Amino acid sequence: MDIKSLDFLQLKETLAGLGEKPFRAAQLYDWMHVKLADSYEEMTNLPANLRKRLSEEYPLTVLKVEREQTSRIDGTKKFLFELPDGNFVESVFMRYKHGNSVCISSQVGCRMGCRFCASTLDGLERNLMPSEMLDQIYRISKITGERVSNVVVMGTGEPMDNYENLIAFLHMLTDEHGLHISQRNVTVSTCGIVPKMYELAEHKFQITLALSLHATTNEKRKKLMPIANRYTIEELMKACSNYFDKTGRRITFEYSLVGGVNDTEQDAKELIGLARPLCCHVNLIPVNPIKERDYVQSGRQQIDAFKNKLEKNGINVTIRREMGRDIDGACGQLRRRRLGEGKKG
Ligand code: SAH
Repeated sequence: MDIKSLDFLQLKETLAGLGEKPFRAAQLYDWMHVKLADSYEEMTNLPANLRKRLSEEYPLTVLKVEREQTSRIDGTKKFLFELPDGNFVESVFMRYKHGNSVCISSQVGCRMGCRFCASTLDGLERNLMPSEMLDQIYRISKITGERVSNVVVMGTGEPMDNYENLIAFLHMLTDEHGLHISQRNVTVSTCGIVPKMYELAEHKFQITLALSLHATTNEKRKKLMPIANRYTIEELMKACSNYFDKTGRRITFEYSLVGGVNDTEQDAKELIGLARPLCCHVNLIPVNPIKERDYVQSGRQQIDAFKNKLEKNGINVTIRREMGRDIDGACGQLRRRRLGEGKKG
């Protein structure tokens, strides 16, 4: 059993099963999820025999820093973590005016196959446990000594393809007994797994749902994202509209601009047509070229023209700042490089 993936109630039940009083569960939960302890030894207000028993029967999931890189341009930090089973995941720490943000991975690898993305090149290895998603944030918070106020699930993996663990993670991240991060400061990004978008809406979280749209016609989208063979843009728009109706939260469209593929005036016009009825925010991402594919970034003028066209038509749009460009570009590249170096020792 992964004790750090248990929510507060489940932990209470588990400790009751060991004959412990409820206040012990509160103490233990606080050590794991607020004080961010990385071992049972640290938990000095728990009796020594309980700590011993826990460390024998319930190993504590703690990620190890395998590599840490800091951008000289903007202070962005990228972390490569080693999981208890020897797999690697990456996470990013970014400082913004409105607070610090952590971008986490939700899976080891990914099976969605988006053509421009480095995370999916070797397919899916496994899902991450709630504890492994949480601990990316916990370790970063501990290492930097800084408060994390925003979390984006935009690293490696498709969160909706690890749905149960994602939901448990979201509850624990925003729970008052834990880090208590405001739901409004959490964003989950999906390539558009329609049934899961409906399910998520039913939870009525106040989180932001970001849809990786990247194209405005089914034909074009299929060329960039295999998932477009399963769900059409029409189905996606209905799912977005339902999410907005159920939660009152506006959807964000992510749109990676790929030179000569989806960056024309016509593309912008069609994107306006999709974004306007839903009052969407559009986040433009200049594509980050990976060496395994020959996609190129749109020129600066093209990007600005695209943005201006959207703005003139009343769409709320941002261009994603390319943070940490000097320390391994797109998601998944740090892990790929480490894997290329082979086994340790
Ligand atoms: N699986 C989720 C999270 C993935 S990463 C999703 O698809 O949304 C977050 C965003 O970065 C997605 O919009 C993804 O399509 C985009 N992305 C991935 N690789 C990229 C690259 N090389 N250049 C630009 N955007 C990229």
